[in-house]
Amino acid sequence: MTSPLPRLPDDVAAVVRVTKGFLPEDEGLLLHRLALERLPSGPALEVGTYCGRSALHLGAAARAVGGTVFTVDHHRGSEENQAGWEHHDPEVVDSELGVMDTLPFFRRALARAGLEEQVVAVVGASTTVSRHWRTPLSLLFIDGGHAEVHAQNDYSGWAPWLMSDGLLAIHDVFPDPADGGRPPYEVFLRALDSGGFAEVEALGSLRVLRRVSGDAGDPAG
Ligand code: SAH
Ligand code: MG
Repeated sequence: MTSPLPRLPDDVAAVVRVTKGFLPEDEGLLLHRLALERLPSGPALEVGTYCGRSALHLGAAARAVGGTVFTVDHHRGSEENQAGWEHHDPEVVDSELGVMDTLPFFRRALARAGLEEQVVAVVGASTTVSRHWRTPLSLLFIDGGHAEVHAQNDYSGWAPWLMSDGLLAIHDVFPDPADGGRPPYEVFLRALDSGGFAEVEALGSLRVLRRVSGDAGDPAG
């Protein structure tokens, strides 16, 4: 049995409702609950900020229990967000540069929700940031690029930083190829096959695993 889903504070929920993004309400609440549990043990990190829907759920937990959330994104969008693709939104294009820029949307959402002290935007490619990262994580949420190379790099670059008992949440896991792309599902299987993680929970396309062996910084992780 897993615990019921918590509510978001009203002020944050109001901002979530007007924030663009790709996270169903119940999955957001599950992330919120995971962060409430884990943040007292150390910082959480998410890969894939977009306009901040998931970061608002994580940040609201940090405001409630203390702690810090880092959220990494180059803010230029994934393949499927580019012009001509399924998930393109012309409103998030920087008209001067002609490229996507979701950072201003994210910063407004964070300010409106009163979470600027709890959530830190890290702007850059996931691999560039993970290469220099040195801090154990209590919770890792992978929701970045869905191409094979990006999904696998997010796992290789970040999962070793999960402390023991830390939670790894992976979004867009579709065991049936008819429902969506494979790379996040393959990353989920890779985590299970490593022997370092056990599945603890699933909701929609969100899968949650707990680190059961090794510790942060362990190169075998
Ligand atoms: N968590 C968000 C959705 C994330 S969408 C929500 O709740 O709505 C995926 C995001 O990953 C996009 O914003 C894209 O810019 C980012 N992304 C894709 N590949 C990336 C990479 N290699 N490094 C950093 N960010 C990346
Ligand atoms: Mg997603």
